[in-house]
Amino acid sequence: QTRHAGLNRIAFFNPEMQAKVVEHVLLEDQLRSALKENQFVLYFQPQVQFPDTRVGYEVLLRWQHPERGMVSPAVFIPLAEKSRLILPIGRWVLEQACQTLARWQDDPAKASWQLAVNVSVVQFQGVGFTEQVATIIRQTGAPPRLLKLEVTESLLMEDPERVAQVMSEIRGLGVRFSLDDFGTGYSSLSYLKRLSLDQIKIDQSFVRDVTTNPASAAIVDSIIGLSQGLGLEVIAEGVETGAQRDWLVAHGCDHFQGYLFGRPGPEVF
Ligand code: C2E
Ligand code: MG
Ligand code: MG
Ligand code: MG
Repeated sequence: QTRHAGLNRIAFFNPEMQAKVVEHVLLEDQLRSALKENQFVLYFQPQVQFPDTRVGYEVLLRWQHPERGMVSPAVFIPLAEKSRLILPIGRWVLEQACQTLARWQDDPAKASWQLAVNVSVVQFQGVGFTEQVATIIRQTGAPPRLLKLEVTESLLMEDPERVAQVMSEIRGLGVRFSLDDFGTGYSSLSYLKRLSLDQIKIDQSFVRDVTTNPASAAIVDSIIGLSQGLGLEVIAEGVETGAQRDWLVAHGCDHFQGYLFGRPGPEVF
């Protein structure tokens, strides 16, 4: 009987799906040792204010896998979240970012650069996230105002009251918040009123065809207006062409991130 149930269940999977499941189990296992094997690298992508002020960088995590080469965060971050390995990994990213900020303080050319760090909802749900951020800031000596945490709307799906509470605690430390991938989630606009935000990031899916698709143009225009009305900074991500940049500038957005201004890369500056 159990054997039948097992067979039935397997019948729902085609060989491709099964290979994917096996591969994910394998990757998750290797993810477990990646931190202590020093396989993670931080990449940095410039954020600029028009026309050419370097405001800072977004930190993008890379996994240098011994056999597979660079594994995309689009693949391993979901696995890390599911297994909660994102807790030690996310802490490591924050520590590295804050050490970098502290180091930059010795160089006048870099001392005002901000670092934006992606934070997963799982990190927010863990107990003591505020204390973790406070401790890392204290121990590294990073200026809290130069640290920006990027969160997504998915954060609000869980426990909006608690999330708002933790965010305002962390903001009390002087840290800033950016709402990443804005417009791609499912939550209502009312949370914009309750959250302690500093910046809204226009998702690259809208930026991609902003000059050719009237619907994307209308959405981007609305996001810019919404940000201005709320007194928040607005930044466009995934800006690849001069035409996209010019359209955005003409519509009131002057912070940019994208291949046009620089690809993510290891710290060589
Ligand atoms: P995100 O935070 O929205 O990051 C932007 C993504 O767009 C990055 O992909 C970046 O490389 C890519 N990108 C930047 N400019 C352009 C452009 O002009 N054109 C195109 N086509 N793409 C561009 P990446 O590095 O693969 O990261 C994917 C996602 O993984 C990130 O999306 C973020 O959600 C997540 N992630 C990355 N690092 C971390 C991390 O340290 N912690 C957590 N929790 N998530 C992370
Ligand atoms: Mg981001
Ligand atoms: Mg994004
Ligand atoms: Mg994204």
